[in-house]
Amino acid sequence: MIVIFGWDYKKNITLGPVLEHQCPYCSKKEIWHLSKRSTYFTIFFIPIFSYEINYRYLCSYCRSGIQLDKQTFEIFKTIAEANMSFHEGTLTEQVRIKIISDLYSNPDCNQIIQKIIDHIEHLPEDFKKKEIELENEQALELEKRRIDAIKESPKWYSLAESKSDSELLNILNRRYDYNPALIIAIEKEIEKRKLEN
Ligand SMILES: [Zn+2]
Repeated sequence: MIVIFGWDYKKNITLGPVLEHQCPYCSKKEIWHLSKRSTYFTIFFIPIFSYEINYRYLCSYCRSGIQLDKQTFEIFKTIAEANMSFHEGTLTEQVRIKIISDLYSNPDCNQIIQKIIDHIEHLPEDFKKKEIELENEQALELEKRRIDAIKESPKWYSLAESKSDSELLNILNRRYDYNPALIIAIEKEIEKRKLEN
């Protein structure tokens, strides 16, 4: 039988508005939004596990933006969630301001926020081009990893065969913790036994 693998199923989660910036891409003064993009490995077009998470910070007008590291993302998430809850009416303006000013009064958080503000204001002219090149390099790297995982998976077949049904399902439920090649072998074994995940 033919098993169809894929690595590019993408899911975007928008977490809410954070700060206003003069956008270096479209030149408009706009609120930027925080978003998280997970890329999934798929089998038969069903997302199996996410192997890459991108933390993105985007202009709400032109959707261009920058990538954030996890630590910066967590700080911006606090602001985004406070703003969202305020817009939804589940948080008062006073509490929203308190949450955000608490962040600013923490020297570490403040420094990280200022760093991003500076970064956006001083983006080099060719930054957008660099980001695209980076994405292409990442795509090539992921393609290499996908082929490696498929090639390596037969090594894991006998281990997968030695597992009980519940062990197999357990591993699959914690697929993020395991080598993708093992997960492919586990998936194959589950399919062989016709187990319901
Ligand atoms: Zn823009």
